[in-house]
Amino acid sequence: MKDMFIRTRIAPSPTGDPHVGTLYIALFNYVFAKHLKGKFVLRIEDTDKKRSKKKYEKKIIEALKWGKINWDEGPDIGGEYAPYRQSERIDIYQKYIQKLLNEKKAYKCFATQEELKELRKKGKSFGYDRRYRDLSDEEVKKREAEKQPYTIRLKIPLKGECSFEDKIKGKITIPWEEIDDQILIKSDGHPTYHFANVIDDHLMKISHVIRGEEWISSTPKHILLYEYFNWTPPIFMHMPLLTQEDGKKLSKRRNPTSILYYKKSGYLAEALINFLSLMGYNMKDGSEFYSIDTLIKDFDDTRFGRSNAFFDIKKLKWLNQKYIIETLSEKDILKNIKKLFLDDEILKKIIPMIHTRIKTFGEFFDLCNFLFTSEIYYTEELLSPKKIDKEIAKSILQTTIWSLDEKDDWSGASLEKSSHEIADFFKLKHKTIVMPLLFSAIMGKRFGPPLFDSIDILGKELTYSRFLKAIEFLGGISNKKLEILKKTWEKKNFSLL
Ligand code: GLU
Repeated sequence: MKDMFIRTRIAPSPTGDPHVGTLYIALFNYVFAKHLKGKFVLRIEDTDKKRSKKKYEKKIIEALKWGKINWDEGPDIGGEYAPYRQSERIDIYQKYIQKLLNEKKAYKCFATQEELKELRKKGKSFGYDRRYRDLSDEEVKKREAEKQPYTIRLKIPLKGECSFEDKIKGKITIPWEEIDDQILIKSDGHPTYHFANVIDDHLMKISHVIRGEEWISSTPKHILLYEYFNWTPPIFMHMPLLTQEDGKKLSKRRNPTSILYYKKSGYLAEALINFLSLMGYNMKDGSEFYSIDTLIKDFDDTRFGRSNAFFDIKKLKWLNQKYIIETLSEKDILKNIKKLFLDDEILKKIIPMIHTRIKTFGEFFDLCNFLFTSEIYYTEELLSPKKIDKEIAKSILQTTIWSLDEKDDWSGASLEKSSHEIADFFKLKHKTIVMPLLFSAIMGKRFGPPLFDSIDILGKELTYSRFLKAIEFLGGISNKKLEILKKTWEKKNFSLL
C-alpha cells in the first residue's frame, strides 16, 4: 500500500432516509482514508430514476455533516473527478457499454416483462435463462429495427469460479453458476447500480471499496467488469452488518434507522460515531470511549470486526451519557437543549396551536410535553380504546406507516388524508381511529394541541418512531401477520384479513 494513493468513497443512493448503516460505512471509509492521508469522496448513486429524490440527497448530506464526516470531493463541493452525481454522468456510461458490446462481453436482451414473469413462475434461477445471450448480429439488428425494447446484460462465464481477496474477510470464492447475467443498462438507457458503480470507482481512482457485507455476492460481477475493461480492481473490504437483537439485519420495520432520528432525539453526534465505530472495530487497548481523531490517529486495518454487530440502543445511551458527563460543560448542555427544543423558530410554530387552549402559561408544558421528550409512555387503555381491539389497533398503526410511506409524505395534511382512507379500510369512523388511537400514539395521552399540526412540528423521524413504539407496546406484529396485512392493504380488500 506504500506507493498507493488512498481514495475511498461513500456512495449512497438517495432513495430513502439516511440510514445509520450509511453513517457506519462512511465513518470507516473516512477514517481509513484520513489515517493514510488519502482522500474521501461522496458520490450520489441516483441511477434509479423512479426512487431517487433530491430531498433524500439533501437529508443524506445533512446527516453526514451532522456526524462530522467530511468529504474532500462531492456533489456539493465539486472536485477533480466531477460530476459526483451519477445522473449527471449518463454519457460516460454510454461510451463504456459500447465497448463491452463491441467486444461481445455484454449483449442486448429483448426479454419482455411477460417473458420474465413466466420464467420466474417456472422457478428458473434469477428469473432469466440467458435466452438472448447468443442471438446473431442480424437477429439483434432486426429486433432493433422493429424498435423492440432491450436491456444490456453482462456475459457471466458459464463455468469456473470467481476468487478474490477481501482485506477483512480473507479469500472469498463464488462459483460463476451462482451469478446471473446482470443487467448493466436498463431499457430506458440508464445504467444499473452495478455498472455505474464500477465505472465510477475506476474513473474516480477509488483505491479501496469499504462497504457492507451484503455486497459480497455482487462483487464477482464487479470484478468481472474490471477484468473485461482491463482495469485493476480496487481492494475490497466488506464490513460486518449492523443487526437488531434477533441477529437479523437492522431494519426500519422494527427500529428507527434514520440518522436524523438520532439527531432529533437528542443524541450527540460524537457518541453515535463512537458507538458505530465499536460496531466494526476493536481498539488495541480495548477502550470503548474515544474521539474520531484518536481513531484516525491509531487506526489499524487489521482490527476490523469480523462478526455482525448488534445495534444496542442501551449501549448507545450509555455512551451518550458518558459524553454528556465527561465532555460537556453546563454551558454546552444548555446550548444543546436550547437548539433542540427551545429554539425560537420551533416555539413560534407551537404558539398558535396552544393560543386558545391554555388557561395559564403553566399549562403550556402539560399540553405540549410530547414535543419535548424522547420517551412516550403508553398504557393498554390508551392504545386500545373501547371500540378498537388490540390486534386492529396494531394494524391501524402499521397501515398508517405504509400509507404515509406510499405517499412519501409525512406531513400533517398527509396523515389527515391517510387517516380517512384507513378508517374507511377498517370500516371504522374517522373519529374513532384519530382521536383515541393516532392521537395517543403520538402524544401518549388523550389531550393536547391539534394532532395534524403537531405532526408537522414533530417531523417524520419522530412520528415514525412513535408509531413503531406503539405497535411494539401492543405486542408487535409477527412477520406472518405483517405479510397478510400488507397484501390486504395493497389490495384494499379488508375481507382478506
Ligand atoms: N449505492 C450503493 C448503496 O446504496 C453503494 C454500494 C457500494 O458501496 O458499492 O449502498
